[in-house]
Amino acid sequence: MKVVVAVKRVLDYNVKPRVRSDGSGLDLANAKMSMNPFDEIAMEEAVRLKEAGIATEVIAVSCGTTQSQETLRTALAMGADRAILVETSAELQPLAVAKLLKAIVDREAPGLILLGKQAIDDDANQTGQMLAALAGLPQATFASKVSVEGDRLIVAREVDGGEETLSLPMPAVVTSDLRLNEPRYVSLPNIMKAKKKPMETITPDMLGVDVAPRLQTLHVEEPATRKAGIKVPDVAALLSALRDEAKVL
Ligand code: AMP
Repeated sequence: MKVVVAVKRVLDYNVKPRVRSDGSGLDLANAKMSMNPFDEIAMEEAVRLKEAGIATEVIAVSCGTTQSQETLRTALAMGADRAILVETSAELQPLAVAKLLKAIVDREAPGLILLGKQAIDDDANQTGQMLAALAGLPQATFASKVSVEGDRLIVAREVDGGEETLSLPMPAVVTSDLRLNEPRYVSLPNIMKAKKKPMETITPDMLGVDVAPRLQTLHVEEPATRKAGIKVPDVAALLSALRDEAKVL
């Protein structure tokens, strides 16, 4: 069974985002970029399925600029067998990415398509669901456990009331939650090996997909800064400040 994993290049989660002065979006110039953390988890799960002899080939796919090659090299170093970059400098919104991934799914015919539950830059949490709808495939979102039993996929999901377990026919779309696994660190030998693994570059045009944005971002601004705290001289002053000034948020 082939497994396709969608990996997105995003601003590293340790970096404090800076908003451009004209409010048009984030300033990403010279910022450290990394693989979206939920996609690392999705990639780890695919590699574990390969190590367990369930997956036969793991294919990492990223849509974006040439720099997304770095993200794909990381995926290859984690254990993907080959990579596909759908290269474009256009702004990609979830619907466009879902259409591109649908075209890849049509081409590769995987048994499982793994995505992160959300990208930490747009926090959209839409691409996996849209892909499942466009491709007419069953989906299990926010997966915290994945296993294969015969020709069915068993997926556990943490929901408000406890843990829900789903059984899906394959091919299926699964999006990873935080507790699915703990991704491995990539070792230097594997980084070296990844340089020799195949990476194909194609364009949205070659897949016949129109990626024009459908939504327009009107304005981005930083969250309001918190007011500085105050020091009180004694317990009586603290009690009076709590009683008269503190507000329940
Ligand atoms: P989102 O719907 O934007 O929150 O993204 C959910 C998931 O879709 C991500 O965790 C990725 O697995 C996948 N995805 C989104 N954008 C891209 C992209 N440009 N390239 C590859 N995968 C993506």
